[in-house]
Amino acid sequence: MIQRPIYLDNHATTPVDQRVLAAMLPYFTDRFGNAASSSHLYGWEAEAAVQQARETIAQAIGATPEEIVFTSGATEANNLAIKGVAEASVNNGRHIITVATEHAAVLDPCRYLQSLGFELTILPVQADGLLDLTCLEKALRPDTILVSVMAANNEIGVLQPLDAIGALCREHQVLFHTDAAQAIGKIPLDVAAMAIDLMSLTAHKVYGPKGIGALYVRRRNPRVKLAPQLHGGGHERGMRSGTLYTPQIVGLGQAVALAIADMPQETDRIRSLRDRLWQQLCTIDGIHCNGHPTKRLAGNLNISISGVDGQALLLGLQPVIAVSSGSACSSAKIAPSHVLAALGRTDELAYASIRFGIGRFTTESDIDQAAACTIATVKSLRQVARV
Ligand SMILES: *Cc1c(COP(=O)(O)O)cnc(C)c1O
Repeated sequence: MIQRPIYLDNHATTPVDQRVLAAMLPYFTDRFGNAASSSHLYGWEAEAAVQQARETIAQAIGATPEEIVFTSGATEANNLAIKGVAEASVNNGRHIITVATEHAAVLDPCRYLQSLGFELTILPVQADGLLDLTCLEKALRPDTILVSVMAANNEIGVLQPLDAIGALCREHQVLFHTDAAQAIGKIPLDVAAMAIDLMSLTAHKVYGPKGIGALYVRRRNPRVKLAPQLHGGGHERGMRSGTLYTPQIVGLGQAVALAIADMPQETDRIRSLRDRLWQQLCTIDGIHCNGHPTKRLAGNLNISISGVDGQALLLGLQPVIAVSSGSACSSAKIAPSHVLAALGRTDELAYASIRFGIGRFTTESDIDQAAACTIATVKSLRQVARV
């Protein structure tokens, strides 16, 4: 059998942990009930499992179980937060603030609202990917209804200062939403200490299944008003109708519980693997690390190499390591990453970026092979370029 490439694309998705899968399996078959069926055992056991997951997730972020709304993932949670707040708050104002390096699942709902007549400010970031707080403060207006800033970036791993942003928003009485798809289970999150009003989560970036996530919606001080985006049976306190996907919800709860339990040791282990990778790669001529050197996810390394074509490099690496470039492919055309462009990287460097995402199942030997393969591929591409 052909050896499968080493997986270093853990920001795109992660495998389901065997312990998560084991917790989920009974809820597909024996315990298949509808959590909304209140008249028999099948419904009760599904509802109990959902409630347990809700408590686990709430506890992980310092919330209460009633503040968790299950969704199909972070894309839906972002849409619900942004459109839901906009629709419910039009009488208070129509101005929304977000940041240039956000995921498309934040930028696109914001741009959609702009097309409906809302006003949108997209803040720039500094060369290290961090938001400048004075820039945010200047952008706040009396008619601002929402600030949306991600916790951890999916391309460069940069961690925004959530506590300072939250304090600023609270002071100006503006709701603060954060997309924490890459952050949950990787860095400590606390909706009280960080004054977060809405937070989007997903399971599949933290060794849970795809197709499940949650939105935290603050109920007190202030109580967030949210217009539902899916109407129907009134599930999730009317905020998101649709029969709850019990096995996936159990998987999300289990994935979050495992990640939180191991977070300190696992962060250290993954960080030392990342540093080991960088120590080897930094010997390459013309290599740059994109994003703040330390205020970033432990498992993230995003590099650009001048004079090396990013697509050719990816193609050369692909049999040995599964990584991706910062670029997003839209139809057949390859565009430079909007995140690296926001950092002020030239188009050439933005095209040539490679994102390494180190995860729970990455070993030292994976890292050494990845480094050796990258160094050799760059060398051979440069030799070809010279002849
Ligand atoms: C993956 C990701 C999303 C989308 O999450 P889904 O659950 O796949 O919809 C949104 N935001 C960020 C930052 C992500 O990394």
